[in-house]
This record gives sequence, C-alpha cells and structure tokens, in this order.
Amino acid sequence: MTLGEFSVIARFFSRPVSPGILGVGDDAARLSLPPDTDLVSCKDLLIEGRHFFSDVAPATLGHKALAVNLSDLAAMGAKPLACLLGIGLTAPCPDWLGDFADGFYRLADQWQCPLIGGDTISSDFGTVISVTALGTLPKGELGLRRDRGQIDDDLWLSGDLGGADVALRALQGDDKISPELLAATRERLERPEPRVALGQALLPLAHAAIDVSDGLAQDLQHLLKASHCGAEIQWQQLPLHPMLQTLPENIKRLAVLNGGDAYELCFTAPKRSRTDIEQLAIALSIPLSRVGSLTQAPGLRLHHGNGLVESLSAQGFDHFKRGEQHG
Ligand code: ADP
Ligand code: MG
Repeated sequence: MTLGEFSVIARFFSRPVSPGILGVGDDAARLSLPPDTDLVSCKDLLIEGRHFFSDVAPATLGHKALAVNLSDLAAMGAKPLACLLGIGLTAPCPDWLGDFADGFYRLADQWQCPLIGGDTISSDFGTVISVTALGTLPKGELGLRRDRGQIDDDLWLSGDLGGADVALRALQGDDKISPELLAATRERLERPEPRVALGQALLPLAHAAIDVSDGLAQDLQHLLKASHCGAEIQWQQLPLHPMLQTLPENIKRLAVLNGGDAYELCFTAPKRSRTDIEQLAIALSIPLSRVGSLTQAPGLRLHHGNGLVESLSAQGFDHFKRGEQHG
C-alpha cells in the first residue's frame, strides 16, 4: 500500500516538541521567542542529481539538509530555534523516509532545533528538499554580518578544507582519487558538522563571518565586497584536510580554494581577539587557523611561501554557470 501525504507526515515528521510549542499538525506553528532576542532565518533548497546523488544514504541526506541551514545560522552567530521541512517525493518509501527522518532529527536534537512544520508533496522530478531554519540573536546584536569586516582584521578558518571536494570528485568518477581517500573524506561531504557553538561563541570576538559553501575564494570575496576591503591569505596557513597532503598540487589547490560543501566558518576578528580565539579552539575542540588579514587594497591575494603572490579571482560554484553538484 502506498503511503499518503498525511501518513508520511504522521509517521515520520511528527515527533513531539516541547509543551510550549505548537508544532506539526495545525495550519501553522506557533512558538514564543526567548526574551530579548531577534529572529534570524535562512533557507536552503536541495535537488536530487544536483545537490545529492540519487543513491545517497537517506540518513546522511537528512543530516545534511538540516546541517547546511544550521551552518548559515552559525555564520551569523545565531542560536537555532526551530526548523521547517519541505519535501517533494516521487514515491514515498517507508524505509527511506525512516532513515531520512532519523538523520534529520538526530541533528535537530543535538542543537535543540525542533521540527515544527513543513510541507509534503509528490514530485515528478526527483526528490526535492527545502529546510527553513529559524534562530535568534541577542536583541539588537547585529550578528557576524558579511559587511562588518575591518581593515587589519585577522582572517580565520575553522576546521579544514578540501575533503568534501575530493570526495565529490571521487563519487563523480575521478579515478585519481583512491578508494581510501574517498573513505577518509566522504563524511566531510555527506555529514558536515555545522559550527553552531563556534558561531555563537564568536559573537563578542569576531567582526564578520561567512560559511564556506561554494568555495573559499568565492565566499571570502562576498565578505570582502560587502566589507569594502581586500585580503591577503597565506597558502601555507590554509587548513588542508590532512589526507590531502599527498595529492598533486593542482588538485589540492582546487579543493582548498574552490571546493564547495565545506561548511566551515571563515571569519574576521581584530588582533586583540587572538588569544581568546585560540582558547576557544581548545575549549570547543575545533581547529581554528589564522590564514591572513584584511587589507585596504581591494581583491584577494594568495601568498605562496616562495615570495610569489597571486591574485585570485572568485571561481567557485555558481548555479547558473556550471553544471556540477554543490550547495
Ligand atoms: P496545509 O495544507 O495547511 O499547508 P498540510 O496538510 O500540508 O497543511 O500539513 C499539515 C501539517 O503538517 C502542518 O502543520 C505542516 O506544517 C506539517 N507538515 C507537513 N509536511 C511536513 C514535513 N515534511 N515536516 C514537518 N511538518 C510537516
Ligand atoms: Mg500543505
């Protein structure tokens, strides 16, 4: 027997929420904002064949659908409040939905971001998933906006880069990437860890932030443009995924500078925050690398160890320009 829309919602997307919240089941959800907060919201859309492979494990897809949104909240310094899930399915398969919901709820529970509503439809064009995440910032707090970077700020990156891109290449059939390397990097692509705690902890320490979803060169240039400055970055300081060290230079370079799906935070902070940021890295067990600084001169310059300085253009992922997979 095929599952109908309402049984899908009842069976898979109606887990209980806190008593104060009106969640799934009415025409709209209702919840109170915590005192002295402002609302922050974001949405991402994921389409089968473009953002995820048709045979991706459903639990990892459920995780990633929420993770990419929590990453956007993190990049504002916001605290998750709740989320909504729109899903279009070609044929509702109970096993698939059960695993998808498990992956989704596990991450939602981890960050206390209850699923409070959504929409469920049938799709003729493959699976479509759209999550809306709601979060809060302390009232009047501007958040880690892209336009708040200042000249001479340090530029920092969380975690490491390149793993997701290398895994994507391998899954797309690039035989230069060994099965061992795919195994070591696949989690980065399929189960990114949104830097939620880091984003909130950076509020008093950092100026501007962006999450790296489309490639460092491109995402950083969004921040630079908004902040009306340029940046110098040091190749040697960029946090390359440890398993990528032995890859040819050109692949490493593309993975680190242009690879998408990293969901690490790239942020700027005044020099006086250095010690606090180093302490924070230890407290949260998240590597934080200081990779360069903001400059008055516009543009993005990459310094190689040998004195060579290269001007970087913003190549990265653009949905209307290239036909690859990405977020
Ligand atoms: P309406 O027709 O008024 O839009 P629906 O019948 O589509 O309402 O949805 C019924 C309830 O189920 C609503 O509370 C809605 O938010 C919720 N809902 C529908 N799909 C999902 C989903 N995929 N995840 C979470 N909640 C959902
Ligand atoms: Mg509806």
